[in-house]
Amino acid sequence: MKNGVELSNPLEIVQRMLEVATQELDLPQGVYEILKKPKRILKVSIPVRMDDGTYREFEGYRSQHLDVLGPTKGGVRFHPGVTEDEVAALSIWMSMKAAILGIPYGGGKGGIVVNPKELSERELEELSRGFIRELEPIMGPEKDIPAPDVNTTPQIMGWMIDEFSRLKGKNVPGTITGKPLILGGSEGRVEATGRGVVFTIEDAAKKLGLELEGMTAVVQGFGNVGSITAKLLHERGVKVLGIVDAGGGIYHKDGLPIEELIGYAQTTGTVAGYNGYESLSNDDLFAADVDILVPAALENQITSVTGPTIRAKIVAEAANGPTTPDGNAAMEKNGVTVIPDILCNAGGVTVSYFEWVQNTTHLRWTEQEVNERLHTEMAEAFDDVYEMKEQKGCTMREAAYLVAVERIAQAMEARGWI
Ligand code: GLU
Repeated sequence: MKNGVELSNPLEIVQRMLEVATQELDLPQGVYEILKKPKRILKVSIPVRMDDGTYREFEGYRSQHLDVLGPTKGGVRFHPGVTEDEVAALSIWMSMKAAILGIPYGGGKGGIVVNPKELSERELEELSRGFIRELEPIMGPEKDIPAPDVNTTPQIMGWMIDEFSRLKGKNVPGTITGKPLILGGSEGRVEATGRGVVFTIEDAAKKLGLELEGMTAVVQGFGNVGSITAKLLHERGVKVLGIVDAGGGIYHKDGLPIEELIGYAQTTGTVAGYNGYESLSNDDLFAADVDILVPAALENQITSVTGPTIRAKIVAEAANGPTTPDGNAAMEKNGVTVIPDILCNAGGVTVSYFEWVQNTTHLRWTEQEVNERLHTEMAEAFDDVYEMKEQKGCTMREAAYLVAVERIAQAMEARGWI
């Protein structure tokens, strides 16, 4: 709380974490000064000719946080709530993820203020292509590499890579990841974030001496990350009792049939109303009596209001920034094991890195190869963060920032920045 108001600006939240981490590591003051803001934010206005013949301007952003470890990397989200500060914070989180996973990238993120569900396919394509035309001067496989995020899909990446290739007059597959397979996408990329989330849940359960099989879970969000996480948990014998998405929620005490639900949500756009199941509110989801809670939607969901009601043993932050500092304090007080976002959901960017490696080496890896490598990388990152937590006697979240900031500071020093 700050003057009685809960801190919810993601940029201020991440800056606070960076400040604590740089102080704890006793780093030169320049490290925080460089880390606290993106090196570049491009604000663009994209005109789209709508199907009815009128024109609309859409506002978009691309934030490039830091390139000390390599080109900037991160998704593009299409959402009506996108703001400059949000995109900036999301790009900083990308820097943290890449550093924790040991991937040679800095953080980037883009966003367009739009509700894509209100656009026709043609309008969406024009918007996606228009965004890339504005970004082209600052993009490239060695500069900045976009990918999917909230409400953006392989199809949208396909339009984007096509637009970029046309502008360049050649194929440049390594400048966008999360592409359709036929255009140089990677096997396993669509499932990568959810798969990584489940790997970290397995690791956290192991540390607690618990078996995943027979555990119960609830998931907030049923987009790419939420649905795949639910599916993979289900496959591992976890009963997913409840799901809430933007259209509503459902609950079943014996567990939900995830495969069927994915099909249902694809046609209706929401899990709500499935098979006449009991409905579930957002507040009830957070307070559910389950072992695992997975926020897989947007920022600021675990707050001073929902945080104290959480009964789950493990909270796996599949979303970026789902927890406010007050929500975090409540979970800490109640002894909840939190797998912080910058570790938990880093499987997506990890397989994006594999995609980029395949594109730049012109090799193709099998799905098994991708998944095995992802498992190895995630396990190593989990161990690095866990070890830091033990060494410093801090939380997993603080430890994740310490691991990331320490590595980034080493690179700054090696480059002679500090
Ligand atoms: N949007 C994803 C994230 O937040 C993936 C980014 C990427 O693959 O570059 O981590």
